[in-house]
Amino acid sequence: MIERNFFLLESRRFLLSLAGGGVCWLFTKDWMLSLLIAASVLAASWGWQLVRVYRWFAHPEDLPPIGGAGVRSILHDVYVLRSRQPHNAPATQRSQPYLKESLASMRDAALIIDGPGNLVWCNDAAEYLLGISFAEEEGKLLSKILPGKSLRKYLREENFQKPLRLKPGPDPEFCLQFEFSRFGANDRLVFVKDATEQDKLERMRRDFVGNVSHELRTPLTVIKGYIETLQSLVAGSDAALKKSLLSMDTQASRMESLISDLLWLSRIESVEGERKDDQINMVELLADLCGELTPAWVDRDIELLTPSSQHILGDAAELRSAISNLVINALKYSEAVVTVKWTDTVVGPALLVEDQGQGIDAKHIPRLTERFYRVEKSRSQATGGTGLGLAIVKHVAVSHDAKLFVDSQPGRGSTFRLVFPADRAVIAGNSPAAATSA
Ligand code: ADP
Repeated sequence: MIERNFFLLESRRFLLSLAGGGVCWLFTKDWMLSLLIAASVLAASWGWQLVRVYRWFAHPEDLPPIGGAGVRSILHDVYVLRSRQPHNAPATQRSQPYLKESLASMRDAALIIDGPGNLVWCNDAAEYLLGISFAEEEGKLLSKILPGKSLRKYLREENFQKPLRLKPGPDPEFCLQFEFSRFGANDRLVFVKDATEQDKLERMRRDFVGNVSHELRTPLTVIKGYIETLQSLVAGSDAALKKSLLSMDTQASRMESLISDLLWLSRIESVEGERKDDQINMVELLADLCGELTPAWVDRDIELLTPSSQHILGDAAELRSAISNLVINALKYSEAVVTVKWTDTVVGPALLVEDQGQGIDAKHIPRLTERFYRVEKSRSQATGGTGLGLAIVKHVAVSHDAKLFVDSQPGRGSTFRLVFPADRAVIAGNSPAAATSA
């Protein structure tokens, strides 16, 4: 190994140099000259070794030069260590050149950032799309290269499940979508694409639904008004006419609920990326909500359990609408008592809405949060359902970083769970002045 006695192994070169000096002394009888010659031979020999070593360093793919025993042993150890390195090195180091080569040829923008978030590499497409020069930005923090709160927050939170949409430039329409994935020790590969068109289309769709719903509201209010007037005018007359008017009234009310759900959904979608951090006292919110629902469901029991007293950082109106959808569904699709529970779990506080009703077959569960998806259309319509309730719940869950879980068995009932992340929970009493109920 390297720590082997270098001088011992190099002693042959040393002795040969001394021998050279000795031969010189035999001829000249001059000690000084002989020593000078011995030292020069030794220095020249080591100098030559050094030149060969430097040459090898410049061409590491070649075999190391064969030198004197000491130098050779050192070179041997260096060679062994180096040839072992690719296998010992982190996978990142081994795979990066290959990865970079393939990413460089891509038309999509790709970047590599290291653990702390510094730019390690990016391809030409990234330079073009982000308007940066790699030569100038290499080693700088990505959040400094592309300043903005949302990217900083996204990188800090390290939750890369959802892609990040950013509007980085002065053009209010220009939108970029970032997708992060981890690789190696803690490096991240970032794909960036121009999402301007996609963003525009999504906004147009949202605006369209919102505008149509809004425009329908006024004529519908007028129609409902006329139906009520006609109902009062025909009181006591033709039963068939009364039945028709009742049916018109029911359908008009259904349309009203649909429009209000669509408007609410489009509002929630339009503010989905915004920060929601009002401190909500969940115990108060749930007590309020259950109290409000009870008069409308006089023959039903709603049991409220609140073993947790944690508050949540969020939007009170959104949370209230999501939870009321869950509780109303439980009431609609069951006949026995409905339990609403606010509790702590290992991952964070959770809201449970439990019923002992008809339950849901497992095959429907993954699709429940789709708009207008109904397990049983007739029953949903009979109960005045719009098919949008769980879509609203899902959007509210996403914008509060919560997860919605559904446990259900046909004939046994269902439990809908909204599990919030621990970082959205606030211990009650930490800042009571800021707490608000819905
Ligand atoms: P709807 O307005 O029709 O209730 P939702 O989006 O709220 O629409 O629910 C979607 C479907 O999921 C419902 O049509 C119903 O079939 C089913 N569902 C929701 N909650 C329950 C529940 N607690 N028990 C049984 N089925 C449910």
